[in-house]
Amino acid sequence: MSDSTFFEVHDPVFSSYVLFNAPVKRLATGFDWAEGPVWFGDADCLLFSDIPNNRIVRWSVETGISTFRQPSNFANGHTRDRQGRLISCEHGGRRVTRTEFDGTITVLADSHDGKRLNSPNDVVVKGDGTVWFTDPHYGIGSNYEGHKGEQEQPCHVYRLDPETSDLRAVITSLECPNGLAFSSDESLLYVADTGTMFAENPTQHMRSFAVNADGSVTDNGIFYTVDVGVADGFRLDTDGNIWTSAGDGVHCISPSGRLLGKILVPEIVSNVCFGGRDRHQLFMTGTTSLYRVPLNCEGLATF
Ligand code: MG
Repeated sequence: MSDSTFFEVHDPVFSSYVLFNAPVKRLATGFDWAEGPVWFGDADCLLFSDIPNNRIVRWSVETGISTFRQPSNFANGHTRDRQGRLISCEHGGRRVTRTEFDGTITVLADSHDGKRLNSPNDVVVKGDGTVWFTDPHYGIGSNYEGHKGEQEQPCHVYRLDPETSDLRAVITSLECPNGLAFSSDESLLYVADTGTMFAENPTQHMRSFAVNADGSVTDNGIFYTVDVGVADGFRLDTDGNIWTSAGDGVHCISPSGRLLGKILVPEIVSNVCFGGRDRHQLFMTGTTSLYRVPLNCEGLATF
């Protein structure tokens, strides 16, 4: 397959993942900074954040766009825990929450070492139920995506045990950790560092970390460097490839860190998630719009 309007092939294997006649479709628009998509197959809908408008948006084939929660405390990244409950990062509340089945909200973490978190950004739940999230300062720098406030601690990656409320900073070496995801066997944790996003030479690395049995991690170094924009949020497919947001769309990266191809999107993409029947659709939050493309691969069933 050669390049098309929607795809840029960097390795022949990418041609087997994309469908030549399946478009990158804009499903909805009118948002200010769409982020944090999460798929609810049981409700046949997608939830995502429209951060500056302080709301969580719901999309489904049947009903299109509706408001799921407003105000949302400037929620950003979402995932689901092993029981299927919604786990959310909130800039405004400077906290990570869980939405219970009856709709009540439980605060999972809002401080570390007696100091407030910065603005939790993205979150993933490991098979053992522990909640791993990043805490850069993007949500407290202005009143646009949260409430302007004082940064009380460095930007860490945390591991939370919701059973014991034990909260540990597991990665303290990054400038501004952002998106994160585990490999399918959970032996690796991938984390994007978007530290100097707006500098002349922006930090745009994705690093991989070996996950140790005691819950600590060991830095394996830089896994992938994004050539356009930054890797803000990403998900894996069942072949171990990483599908990450970037300035020119979505980059598909092999398990060895090689760029296989790109999905070209006309807006900066912030995050992605797999969904739809068979998890073969990739939903992409792109600045003012929600996009979707059907793929010939399956997303990892870890939300
Ligand atoms: Mg993010």
